[in-house]
Amino acid sequence: MEKLSENALRILQERYLLKGKDGSFQESPEEMFRRVAHAIAKAETKWGGEEESKSWEASFFEMMSNLYFLPNSPTLMNAGTGRGQLSACFVLPVEDSLEGIFETLKQAALVHQNGGGTGFNFSRLRPAGDRLNTYGGFASGPISFIKLYDFATEQVKQGGRRRGANMGILNVNHPDILEFIKLRVNGKPLQNFNLSVGITDDFMEAVLLDKEWDLMHPNSGRAIRTVGARLIWEEILNNAWESGNPGLIFLDTINRSNPIIQLGKIQATNPCGEVPLMDYESCNLGSINLSKFVKEKELDWGLLSETVHKAVRFLDNVIEVNNYPSSNIEQATKGNRKIGLGVMGWAEMLIQLETPYDSEEAEDMAKNIMKFIQEESFLASSKLAEERGNFDNWNKSVYYPDQKMRNATRTSIAPTGTISILANTSSSIEPLFGLAFQRRKVLNGQNLTSINDFFIKKLKEKGLFFQEILDLISIDGSCLKIKELPDKFKSVFKTALEIDPKWHLKHQIAFQQFTENAVSKTVNLPSSAGLEDISEIYKLAWEWKAKGITVFRNDTGREQVLYKGIKE
Ligand code: UDP
Repeated sequence: MEKLSENALRILQERYLLKGKDGSFQESPEEMFRRVAHAIAKAETKWGGEEESKSWEASFFEMMSNLYFLPNSPTLMNAGTGRGQLSACFVLPVEDSLEGIFETLKQAALVHQNGGGTGFNFSRLRPAGDRLNTYGGFASGPISFIKLYDFATEQVKQGGRRRGANMGILNVNHPDILEFIKLRVNGKPLQNFNLSVGITDDFMEAVLLDKEWDLMHPNSGRAIRTVGARLIWEEILNNAWESGNPGLIFLDTINRSNPIIQLGKIQATNPCGEVPLMDYESCNLGSINLSKFVKEKELDWGLLSETVHKAVRFLDNVIEVNNYPSSNIEQATKGNRKIGLGVMGWAEMLIQLETPYDSEEAEDMAKNIMKFIQEESFLASSKLAEERGNFDNWNKSVYYPDQKMRNATRTSIAPTGTISILANTSSSIEPLFGLAFQRRKVLNGQNLTSINDFFIKKLKEKGLFFQEILDLISIDGSCLKIKELPDKFKSVFKTALEIDPKWHLKHQIAFQQFTENAVSKTVNLPSSAGLEDISEIYKLAWEWKAKGITVFRNDTGREQVLYKGIKE
């Protein structure tokens, strides 16, 4: 078992390890990994004997306790505890009826209670002020129901161990779209939602050609108002500049690679955007810690292949032993059996290979690695299909009839916000945020500070380990101004805000090209960035076929989680 970092231990103790009624720990971190390995390997008994289950249990334990792979938080928290919801990602429908709206709210509360996040597209709701048939009143519209969902999430959060997160989407042709775009700036309390505008290709073309744009009634399909497409675009930019919201989701790009389009179009994603899902579908995630796969400045492809195969099996087993909050969710999830295997520690892998994040070499490497993971997970899932059968809707999917497949999708790049701390590595495919940085108010209101281990290690390797250097990076998390460090060294340790936003996007696209689901990525912008910068990134994201895009402007005085430097 790999030694865990101080921050990892603090998080595990606060939220993951089982506790008795008196607050005493019922398990150690090692026992937690054993509990999870045991619960997930139990699924094996459905197809094999006890022996097989035991041997997979040992294998899963090793993969997690070595920090090669970790499943999403709900699996770590809940597997084998009787609180059986193991997935992080859900999408629920919002029907245009009071009954539908409250039924979905109830299901969302149950999902949040056990650490999952929910995404919704509110576009089926009639606009505010529309006449209601039954009692002759007026509809309150999508915005008011988003606020209601936000308020409910806030209440459920009080009892849970993890913030219930939501994604709220409104399509760009909904009559209430302009109010939706301003929602985050005007609606300060709306803290439990990420907001995204559902964008179509024809809207982007209308923006580029400065055309008029129809806002349509969702029920009749009639245009009830026409505005300039650029007016909407500019409102999006203004608000994204101010608050980071709304982001965009590109619905046509998503549906072009929807593997079971026969079942209908995908309209929404989970909260951080990495999994586009049909109504009632859920998806469980897991991430490979790439920082562990560099041996003697080379990538260990054999170990990576082995880990991908084990991880796919693990994630397919999760679907089997999962407890679902409702029968609709169980049915939809088992019908397609989507899993999302991704990566974390990408920046720390590049550092070990002494490759700058903002280089073509890094971009090529991203493509090679993700292509490899995608191909291996494809093989792993089709092998599982030989053993266990195809997913139920296989004969309606793109794999039919030639390719056996257990899981409709296999890859997804999650933010790995917490599991990367547990694995003591950089999150997801993000560059280092700072060589020294703080995560503020993440642990019961307390801060977590980190100094990057690889930075220290490399300083020592090069004979440059001096207290003065540590003091300097403690102030602003950056080493670029330190004269004593060679340029090549500094180029490898550039941090998120020192990397041109286009390079952030290039990494997102490189990984997206070999990921069936989507990539969660924040394109960090300096506080000096203007509307034009956001416009360019948003347009390029669409052109380069991202499935969604989010920007975040740093140091704008708003509350944020990550701060560079560790001096208060
Ligand atoms: N998520 C959530 N609440 C949170 C963090 C995450 O509901 O506070 C969900 C959300 O769907 C997100 C997914 O978990 O997209 C994966 O997030 P992440 O990779 O950061 O989770 P981790 O497994 O690291 O905790």
